[in-house]
Amino acid sequence: MKELLKRMEIDDYEQVVFNYDEVSGLKAIIAIHDTTLGPALGGTRMWNYASEEEALTDVLRLSKGMTYKSAAAGLNLGGGKAVIIGKPEMKSEELWRAFGRFVQSLNGRYITAEDVNTCVEDMKIVAEETEFVTGLPGRSGDPSPVTAFGVWRGMKAAADEVYGTPDLKDKIIAIQGVGHVGYYLAKHIAEEGGKLIITDINKENIDRVLADIEAKVVGPDEIYGVDCNIFAPCALGAVVNDETIPELDCDIVAGAANNVLKEERHGDILDEKDILYAPDYVINAGGVINVYDELLGYNKERALSKARKIYDNIEKVIEISKRDNIPTYKAADIMAEERIEKIAKVHRNYIPE
Ligand code: NAD
Repeated sequence: MKELLKRMEIDDYEQVVFNYDEVSGLKAIIAIHDTTLGPALGGTRMWNYASEEEALTDVLRLSKGMTYKSAAAGLNLGGGKAVIIGKPEMKSEELWRAFGRFVQSLNGRYITAEDVNTCVEDMKIVAEETEFVTGLPGRSGDPSPVTAFGVWRGMKAAADEVYGTPDLKDKIIAIQGVGHVGYYLAKHIAEEGGKLIITDINKENIDRVLADIEAKVVGPDEIYGVDCNIFAPCALGAVVNDETIPELDCDIVAGAANNVLKEERHGDILDEKDILYAPDYVINAGGVINVYDELLGYNKERALSKARKIYDNIEKVIEISKRDNIPTYKAADIMAEERIEKIAKVHRNYIPE
């Protein structure tokens, strides 16, 4: 907790707010990283952090990540996040209402949504106290189809770079995790004539795919080493690491999972091995695109048409990576930063009210 203002200065955070509520025992931190492009949007994570320091580090990291994700997706949103310190067992009406009032007190500078250990039912109670909450029932709904569509589009852009055509017909795509996103992704690829290799630790999810689509199934540990064109991680993070990289037998890594690279240096290694990495937060932005659309009055077609542009966003990342001779994970950050800088300059123009 020491030197918080210094940490804010180093990474340009705008505001960090600590919330405590006596009645419910709520202990929350809301971090607003950057609102140049619009209100700071990011979900609320509930976690039994070992210390306040750990919670603070998490909320700072996640809120900054949201700035980059929304900026790279071309949305009019800044980056923010909330964390609640505690186990899900402490959820109560008074806790969510107290949290909703804290969100409301920021008057729209921060907009919340569900995240790890929080759900739509929780957000319904939050909405009793604040208008600044998204992902409510009956509105934008499950983001996975839009996320999968965006990943598929991004994959095609990466294929165009590597094979000179975005067509995935007869390309072999290995999907790790066929849950919400992986299932819809498999459908897009199969409809285009791509060949699928899939894995999952949940047999029901594998069976759901096999009921609709032809796919070869391999074990969870085998997926890294399969001979394929594209490896699509759609289960968990940190799957590109020192152990898996020597196994990879693909030209492209492009999937929905967050934090695919265990460490940044693993992005450098992929680059050295000539494996094109489609940066996670650029290719999986369909989820935030979907939620953003809810703020405008949800329209699925509009959300999909924005997610369609993930193709162009991946193209632009590749362009910057070539322009600056840097790996794509770094190019993604530059693309986001350049957009924020340009819009900030445009907004300097004085317009009388
Ligand atoms: P999900 O939980 O529905 O699916 C994940 C699947 O991976 C499950 O079927 C699970 O059984 C499987 N799995 C877990 N561990 C595995 C392992 N070791 N090997 C193989 N399979 C394993 O989640 P989801 O909503 O489909 O999201 C997938 C990933 O994409 C997550 O990392 C998520 O953070 C990220 N993401 C999702 C969205 C979205 O809209 N749902 C948006 C952005 C990012």
